[in-house]
Amino acid sequence: MPVYEYCCPDCSVRFELMRSISQSGDGAPCPKCRKPAPRAMSRFASFSKSDNGMSAPIGGSSCSGCSSSSCSTCGG
Ligand SMILES: [Zn+2]
Repeated sequence: MPVYEYCCPDCSVRFELMRSISQSGDGAPCPKCRKPAPRAMSRFASFSKSDNGMSAPIGGSSCSGCSSSSCSTCGG
């Protein structure tokens, strides 16, 4: 199944979800607020990928203390 990227306008959270093609146009539940989020433009999906192969969250708030996945300063 292909992986689609979704972006929640409320939380500015991008996330990927593996779905069938028939479901790709439907909103996907946001991992934060559980509201259905519209699909993001997949052309920019590779833009966030760094050389280490790890996908970093895009559009989320980050601070200088964000060295790990959890950050108490910005809520991670
Ligand atoms: Zn959300």
